[in-house]
Amino acid sequence: MNIAHTMQDVRESRRRVNANVLNGVDAEYLDPQQVKEVCPIINIEDDIRYPVMGATYQPRAGIAKHDHVAWAFARKCDEMGVDIIQNCEVTGSRWRPRHSLGARRPRRLPPPDPVAPLQALVSELFEPVHPTVVMSNHVHVYVSQAHKGELVMGAGIDPYVGYGQRGGFHVIEEQMAAAVELFPIFSRAHLLRTWGGIVDTTFDASPIVSKTPIDQLYVNCGWGTGGFKGTPGAGLTFAHTIAHDEPHPLNAPFALDRFETGHLIDEHGAAAVAH
Ligand SMILES: Cc1cc2nc3c(=O)[nH]c(=O)nc-3n(C[C@H](O)[C@H](O)[C@H](O)COP(=O)(O)OP(=O)(O)OC[C@H]3O[C@@H](n4cnc5c(N)ncnc54)[C@H](O)[C@@H]3O)c2cc1C
Repeated sequence: MNIAHTMQDVRESRRRVNANVLNGVDAEYLDPQQVKEVCPIINIEDDIRYPVMGATYQPRAGIAKHDHVAWAFARKCDEMGVDIIQNCEVTGSRWRPRHSLGARRPRRLPPPDPVAPLQALVSELFEPVHPTVVMSNHVHVYVSQAHKGELVMGAGIDPYVGYGQRGGFHVIEEQMAAAVELFPIFSRAHLLRTWGGIVDTTFDASPIVSKTPIDQLYVNCGWGTGGFKGTPGAGLTFAHTIAHDEPHPLNAPFALDRFETGHLIDEHGAAAVAH
């Protein structure tokens, strides 16, 4: 559920719901009372900084556990004969042309995507009180409750480039203020841990799954904050690209050269959050 707090949010949310419906995705728009029915602990009073004016909702949506998914992929790869070597740093690469005649010489690649930490926060255990993922772009926080009972929370990336696997403290402070405003019931909850992961985000917020100007070098990157859910599609299309040395029709538009041609795919609104 994605909360709308301003008229602009409401307009955008309704447009997003309509766009989803036009594409066969079963999204709904809820008024504040319906928001409260889905998630009774949300504060829908009008005496807060940004009162709840409605929300987009996809009742069929759920949460995929990243650990389970990663291990399922790893086990299946292992069964299929793939060797997974852990803790092994790549320190360089060697290039050998596929064909001895007519092979293209390596050319310079564009500079890498900007990277920044994105952090997650986990609380102590609570009884189940929170039925769905709730996110608010405007006050900027998302909150869900894990099966064991922890609240799992997050927000946006740090606003500057960083490689440290921890986020800025002001980001934590702002998202906690937002969480307490939306869910006063959590005001005395203790955070147990926070951590940050590094995400690389392209300028149009869409991934690059592509051949490169260098023969036999392919890239699959720039997934930003949405690469987990993109994994099955990325795997399928990237495997096709490598096997055929040609993009799959689905990833053809996600080529590296779109930053030269200007055929950008603006996905800044895709996750309905500010990253
Ligand atoms: C807190 C947080 C919450 C997120 N929530 C979501 C979400 O809800 N939904 C969603 O879809 N996405 C989410 N994401 C984003 C998602 O995790 C990323 O988009 C995705 O992991 C990117 O996958 P990747 O394979 O491109 O890169 P990565 O997962 O970053 O993998 C790159 C790998 O390369 C390794 N590596 C780097 N350098 C070397 C080297 N020299 N030698 C060997 N190995 C090297 C790294 O150790 C790493 O394992 C979240 C990310 C974070 C940090």
